[in-house]
Amino acid sequence: MIKIHLSGWWVAFIICVFTSCNTINEENLANDNRLLIVSSFSIISDIIQEIGGEKVLVYNLVPIGMAPHTYSPTPKDVKFAQNADIFFYNGLNLEGGKSGWVFKMIYALGFDTNKVFMACKDIPAMYLQDENNYKEVNPHAFISPRVGVQMAINIRDALVQSDKKDSVFYVVRAENYIRQLQNIEREYQEKLGSIPQKQRVFIASEQAFQYLANDYNLTEGYIWAIDTDKNGTPKQMMNIIDFIHQHTPHHLFVESNVDRRPMEAVSEATNIPIYQHPIYSDELGKPGQTADTYLKYLKYNLEQIYNGLTTDKTMYK
Ligand SMILES: [Zn+2]
Repeated sequence: MIKIHLSGWWVAFIICVFTSCNTINEENLANDNRLLIVSSFSIISDIIQEIGGEKVLVYNLVPIGMAPHTYSPTPKDVKFAQNADIFFYNGLNLEGGKSGWVFKMIYALGFDTNKVFMACKDIPAMYLQDENNYKEVNPHAFISPRVGVQMAINIRDALVQSDKKDSVFYVVRAENYIRQLQNIEREYQEKLGSIPQKQRVFIASEQAFQYLANDYNLTEGYIWAIDTDKNGTPKQMMNIIDFIHQHTPHHLFVESNVDRRPMEAVSEATNIPIYQHPIYSDELGKPGQTADTYLKYLKYNLEQIYNGLTTDKTMYK
């Protein structure tokens, strides 16, 4: 747990004694004149960096390889959050809402909530429902590039509001970035729109792709609706196998950060192959790898989904 009754200096001091303080100029945070931004996970951190350029220092919390739904901040995270000028989170329940880990951290630090921004502001929520009729907001809106455009606008506005002297800089960079996002969005419309409706059957492990499916008219199948420690129950397996028999997709997809075994079992039971490359859901690729920026992530996913939906399944058998 985070010790909140110590003053900022003490916590910083203790953390520096017990951990090795290296990387992004940790000791010099107070003298760094860039806007220090703490952000909850890789996709938002990347958009902020693209728009903020050299005027911002972005510190990302959830490391790539970990799902952002639950997370325990490290002492180093706490140090950056204490020094941060502003804080970004996704919202739509990605970080567990007001009782989740982001707000626990913000409240524990007494961080000014006027300086906390939600990247998914004004994005209408879609809902997940599991096989026991438990309902919750689907946080994975950013998988759709149409949502990505709105997130970039929200992030631009928050930067402009927080650092008025550099507002022109942010507006110009955002304009260029948003144009690139809009071009990708058009590609999604064109490519996915060119696939006959009956063939637009997209199946992944988790029902994370609901916003994308809704925006581009895909019929979405999944093993589990809500990510829990009980993924791939017998009931979930029966439901997806039924769904596959009704829709006969060309391929099944597996996300980069899930356990592949449930989908492998589905593939075996239905004789539908898993597409050769993983797709990305709630994280970017590691730096230097495929899909290591949000723009590349969107392009990469489109290519895999388009190929998987249109390529004859016998090709990879
Ligand atoms: Zn997720």
